[in-house]
Amino acid sequence: MRHLAPETPLFEVIGARLPALKRLEKMGIRTVDDLLRHFPARYEDFSKTYAIADLEPGQQATIHGVVEDIRARHSWRRNMSIVEATIADESGSIRAVWFNQPYVATALKTGREANFAGKASVSEEGEIYLSSPTYEVIRTRSGEGEDGAQEMNHTARLVPVYPETHGITSRGIRFVVQQLFRRKPEFKEWIPAGILQAFRLPEVNAALRAIHFPKRMADATRARERFSFEDLFLLQVANLKQKMAVAAERAQPMAVDIERIKRLLGELPFALTPSQKKALWEIIQDIEKPHPMNRLLQGDVGSGKTVVAAIAAIIAAENGYQSAFMAPTEILARQHFETMKKLLARISTDSGTAPAIGLLTSGSAVAHYGADMEARSTKAEFGRRVAAGEIAIIFGTHALIQKSVKFARLGLVIIDEQHRFGVRQRAELTARRKESSPASAGAGAGGGAPLVPHFLSMSATPIPRTLMLSIFGDLDLSLITELPAGRKAITTSIVPPQDREKAYGFIRAQVQEGRQVFVICPRIDVPDEEDKEKARASADPRQMKTLELKSVKEEFEKLSKTIFPDLRVAMLHGQMKAREKEEIMKQFKAREYDILVSTSVVEVGVDVPNATLMMIEGAERFGLAQLYQFRGRVGRGEHQSYCFLMTDTAGGAANARLKAILEAKNGFELAEKDLALRGPGQFFGQVQTGLPDIAMEALRDPELVKEAREAAANLLGADPQLKSAAPLRRRLMKFLEDLHEE
Ligand code: ADP
Ligand code: MG
Repeated sequence: MRHLAPETPLFEVIGARLPALKRLEKMGIRTVDDLLRHFPARYEDFSKTYAIADLEPGQQATIHGVVEDIRARHSWRRNMSIVEATIADESGSIRAVWFNQPYVATALKTGREANFAGKASVSEEGEIYLSSPTYEVIRTRSGEGEDGAQEMNHTARLVPVYPETHGITSRGIRFVVQQLFRRKPEFKEWIPAGILQAFRLPEVNAALRAIHFPKRMADATRARERFSFEDLFLLQVANLKQKMAVAAERAQPMAVDIERIKRLLGELPFALTPSQKKALWEIIQDIEKPHPMNRLLQGDVGSGKTVVAAIAAIIAAENGYQSAFMAPTEILARQHFETMKKLLARISTDSGTAPAIGLLTSGSAVAHYGADMEARSTKAEFGRRVAAGEIAIIFGTHALIQKSVKFARLGLVIIDEQHRFGVRQRAELTARRKESSPASAGAGAGGGAPLVPHFLSMSATPIPRTLMLSIFGDLDLSLITELPAGRKAITTSIVPPQDREKAYGFIRAQVQEGRQVFVICPRIDVPDEEDKEKARASADPRQMKTLELKSVKEEFEKLSKTIFPDLRVAMLHGQMKAREKEEIMKQFKAREYDILVSTSVVEVGVDVPNATLMMIEGAERFGLAQLYQFRGRVGRGEHQSYCFLMTDTAGGAANARLKAILEAKNGFELAEKDLALRGPGQFFGQVQTGLPDIAMEALRDPELVKEAREAAANLLGADPQLKSAAPLRRRLMKFLEDLHEE
């Protein structure tokens, strides 16, 4: 028999009519490779076979016997089908019962010999019986196992339990996987032999078999280690290769006059902190080079990343290059635009005229030309100005870099809050960045590779180092480690339901002192009758709970009409038009409102230094990173600031996440803690990292990450093109495809 190749489509192996095939396809499992890389979530130990007479209550066990009697009936009282069988071996007999699995009666006929695996339960009468055991009929013809004996899939061994989705059961998956193994699939080892040996990892074919059908738990564990390592290793190879590729690209070197920078810094309303200066210096050194900068500027919320990026954009403009300055929300894009306007008004320029800047949002386009000249225009007109190179620094969401916007001379791309952009968006961006590059025509470059803009991304989400190296490992890193002087620590407290009135009293006092307040709610709408009916019908406590979440609209009504009828309350949420949102934000900044009730749209970046109180409703609902970002909206000015974590239940104070927020000294400490506690999936919340589960798990192990990185660096150092590692090259391609498909 020919060996099965990994890329063989499943239908060729198991027959296209098998219903399991459709369900597997829904899970994205199409080939032999896909299926064998769908790993068990855990194993059930049915490896011991017992004589029926020896069964003890509560035991997990396999018995081997003959079906003496089997019948199906319907219990009208309990409204379910019940199959009952009597199974006998030499030592005795036992009853087995299955609920709502009528097909068992057809699969198991009287006289059949079978294995039964499950838990020995005890009835009210004290009788030991098997409740819904897994069964496996012994084929009477000669076995097909390697040693002539029939190989068991579901019983009498460590039985793999798969993540069950789309209606395919573990039993169904085991069945198909076992069929594949009978055809002896053969994978080429893609981890170079030296690395396998150095880390004592099992070879791929053995590991695949061991992870699905281990003989001993230790084999499964070692196999799992191998696949964890493998993903981290591939990730590192991909990162390092990306880094090498960027280093080989060409970019426009910018001329930076240090005297000019000094003058510029002298005109800022504040002195840069030491790490702002260091970060700026690192950026300047990068953009002076004829290769593109690819740098992540990371710093805690409020550490002042914007001004550093803004200076880089000004340098680019003074070199005659355009910058695209992108933020994840329009609110934030507008804020950066306004900041830049103020900054440019303060500084003097060599030519006497400040560079023109523009803001492009879904609703409007506006260009600002020095002094106070500002022009709203159609998007088409705006696009023409950008394409003509008339606007030097363009602010917007990541729509900016979509195909519709053409730049004349794009020299610098800045992305704020870049962790909000998933792996896939980053990949798109990289591709797009190359297309949008100002062809090599400029400055007599005379052919050669096209020029690629410099790239600066910013993030306030403290990313633990292991994640940093893995997910963003292709980037160079600048860190802002301190906050501007004079900031006071935010006083954070967990507020149980009974203290709500006190909290409202505190809000009033803050407003009376002239401060402003954010109230964050977890949902937008009040649930309607239909929602409520559905939740009740489902009797699912989680659904009921969701209904109790505070909604922005409801809370807005309550606060503006009942609790603070005398104060100015506004509302902000994602269903509002971009224009409306901008308007509300602008008015809030201008202190036209005292309280802003909002969904998570204010989560990132928003800067209102007069706001001193952040009240988070249903705080248990939010991920740690989100809570941290919310809190970062206050404490940005000279006033003492507060954060109230409102819990739905009196027990909320025990919530580990909320406690972590209270205790952590800074974001990085918080991130490390959370990673250790709950894994990277939790920390990033809904943000897609695009990584397979097993890699996400592996990221909790800093030692493994480090080893994988070293191994990848050594390999690429010796063989940058991976010429000697063809299977690895192919594997890498597949890995990256899967990553970007997620
Ligand atoms: P983030 O790093 O979270 O994006 P911002 O760039 O929004 O922070 O800066 C937060 C606030 O701190 C802004 O109001 C900004 O003007 C101010 N700021 C930035 N740098 C300094 C500094 N060196 N000294 C004082 N204030 C600063
Ligand atoms: Mg910011």
